[in-house]
Amino acid sequence: TLAHISLLTDQTGYSFGAVGVLQDITELRKLDQLRRDFVANVSHELRTPLTSVQGYVEAMLDRAIPGEDQDKYLTIIHRETLRLKKLIYDLLDLSRIESRKERWDMNEIDVPELVDQVLVKLRPLIKKQQVTVDRYFPDQLPPMLGNEDRIEQVLVNLLDNAVKFSCPGGKVTVRAQAQDDNITVSIADQGPGIPPEDLEHIWERFHRVEKSRSRALGGTGLGLAIARQIVEAHGGKVSVQSEAGQGSTFSFTMKTVPAEI
Ligand code: ADP
Repeated sequence: TLAHISLLTDQTGYSFGAVGVLQDITELRKLDQLRRDFVANVSHELRTPLTSVQGYVEAMLDRAIPGEDQDKYLTIIHRETLRLKKLIYDLLDLSRIESRKERWDMNEIDVPELVDQVLVKLRPLIKKQQVTVDRYFPDQLPPMLGNEDRIEQVLVNLLDNAVKFSCPGGKVTVRAQAQDDNITVSIADQGPGIPPEDLEHIWERFHRVEKSRSRALGGTGLGLAIARQIVEAHGGKVSVQSEAGQGSTFSFTMKTVPAEI
């Protein structure tokens, strides 16, 4: 706690009182710590791929890599460069969404149609992971109110994780249901699940259950943070349920398009 105390004096210098201001700076300090953690995380995330690119390029310039291995190293350099690019784009995107300065057009979103569109995009990954995706939508599902491009991004991030963290032969299930003027989309997988101690932090930037596994899978650690910011900027809510070893279910709830009167 920070305290400022001033004595109140009259023209003759006689003190007739005092004013004290107490300010609770726990919140400020917490914010400052969060900001510092974020900068440290970003620096680390940027440095890791850069260091490996630098190392491989230097080895090649030193002619330390035999001709037949060159493609292998160039492939690594290329992969790390793409990671850096994705990381920077994701960071810029996140800060744009968080600042709430963007104006989004609101669309009537046909959820089953948008899910199918996303599944087409993810087809190569789904095939590679040998995952099957089931979809269940009620017949009379009302449209969702939101910015279609941004909601597509939420679906991509959640579905990409569900498929990425699935075991070969696993199943991912997408559902949507409407209640009152809310519509909830959920994505369930049969992957490794998330331990209880990670569950409440999972939507934070760069929080990962297993850092090495996530990086090996090409993740930036920002996908869930971006999804959450997009949903919350619409006034919606995200949630997650999971038990280690039992798979995970990520959901988000948004408003439906109001029925015409
Ligand atoms: P990443 O780019 O690492 O996937 P995300 O923000 O999308 O970043 O996810 C953060 C972390 O949450 C992941 O690294 C992983 O540890 C965990 N996670 C996300 N989705 C799942 C899932 N469907 N099953 C298990 N763990 C998950």
